[in-house]
Amino acid sequence: MKTIPPEKKHYDLVIIGGGVSGAALFYALSKYSTVKSIAIIEKYESFGQVNSKWNNNSQTLHTGDIETNYSLEKASIVKPAALMVSRYASSLKETKANKIIFPVSKMVLAVGKKEVVQLEKRYQLDTVRRSYPRLYSPQSNLIPEQSISHGHGLAVDVADPSKLWIATHYGLLLLENEKDLYRVGKSRDDYMGFSVHPTDPSIFFTSGHPSRGGNLGFQRSDDGGATWKKISNGANGPVDFHAMAISPVNPNLIYGWYAGNLERSEDQGATWKIVNREIAAVYLSADSENESKLYAATPRGQGVMVSEDKGTTWQALSPALEGGAVSVVAVHPQNAQILLVFSQRLGGLGKSNDGGQTWTRVNESFGGEAVLHITFSRIDASIVYALTHENKLFKSSDAGDTWVQIR
Ligand SMILES: Cc1cc2nc3c(=O)[nH]c(=O)nc-3n(C[C@H](O)[C@H](O)[C@H](O)COP(=O)(O)OP(=O)(O)OC[C@H]3O[C@@H](n4cnc5c(N)ncnc54)[C@H](O)[C@@H]3O)c2cc1C
Repeated sequence: MKTIPPEKKHYDLVIIGGGVSGAALFYALSKYSTVKSIAIIEKYESFGQVNSKWNNNSQTLHTGDIETNYSLEKASIVKPAALMVSRYASSLKETKANKIIFPVSKMVLAVGKKEVVQLEKRYQLDTVRRSYPRLYSPQSNLIPEQSISHGHGLAVDVADPSKLWIATHYGLLLLENEKDLYRVGKSRDDYMGFSVHPTDPSIFFTSGHPSRGGNLGFQRSDDGGATWKKISNGANGPVDFHAMAISPVNPNLIYGWYAGNLERSEDQGATWKIVNREIAAVYLSADSENESKLYAATPRGQGVMVSEDKGTTWQALSPALEGGAVSVVAVHPQNAQILLVFSQRLGGLGKSNDGGQTWTRVNESFGGEAVLHITFSRIDASIVYALTHENKLFKSSDAGDTWVQIR
């Protein structure tokens, strides 16, 4: 912009006030209008000294969710504008974005009986629920998260394939639309074992160890991972299941592997018994058609083992997988003949369309990393996710034949 000499003292436009509004107007008009000369007058010695001073306001985005004084009409107008700011921030490189904007949790408090009733009423309105679904979802305490680390379990939401649950060393994460990552609930426990109920999207099961030490036993959440309660210790517990599986055919049937023993519960985790002391399972998958059938990926040359009697006895599934470690085995939810494994003998991901008799090596290197977890979507079984040992996330949209890295 051209600088006008002070003696001229004539401007096409004078903006009074050098806060964020004045400065933004000044910038926008200088850049995008035909106004030839603009002056900005500020009564203090420099700009942005009053409301716009960085430490004079709390600087949160007003999306209308916690602004209880906004009419619903106003909330719906401010939301798209406020989200432009966060969208802009998410388009920046992480290092740059981290310098100017941070995800923080927000809260609304009502003080006083009348105010509580008023607030509850506002948030029970369907219009509010639709605009701000996260305020009401069972996972209302979602905290934005930057990255996945130490993934120990993976499951596509059984009701909504845009949600991917990731159990980690530091609690449960949720990835929405392959983009927005959140921490779920307050727990930072290490979920070594993680299974979701095959039909009820709010019920999850975990085992592992708490951040303070010891073992968790077997836990259940009825609110999509927001809170957990211990159901039982497991056999010889409290257990720390490093592999877990729930039968999609009979959700009362759950398996867990702990300290060299395979345990089975037939009452959804209330009671457990050890059914096998030999199988070395690093990963368990229950068959999607046959209630008694269970697969185990093994680390020491047995390949994939299969049991036809709910984990009591086992035999090797396929000679093609024997002689090398297998880190994961997954069963297609609608066609139990289709299996995916990550196998040393196959040199990567393998797919079988005949229940494990023959295998095809899938042409995907996963960045040279080992795949430790695979999950099919139950709603749309062509969608599959895979998590590697360095927490890279891959997606297949054709039941495991081809893959793209999404994180
Ligand atoms: C405690 C607090 C918390 C807030 N939290 C948030 C938040 O979380 N999110 C959010 O989006 N907003 C928040 N706001 C609001 C936000 O800070 C303001 O809306 C915004 O800064 C207003 O910018 P402005 O440029 O319009 O006004 P100001 O920043 O107040 O700028 C006006 C300028 O005009 C100057 N001026 C006034 N009179 C004259 C005059 N006669 N001659 C010359 N100069 C003059 C002043 O010195 C000042 O520099 C908060 C505000 C406060 C006080």
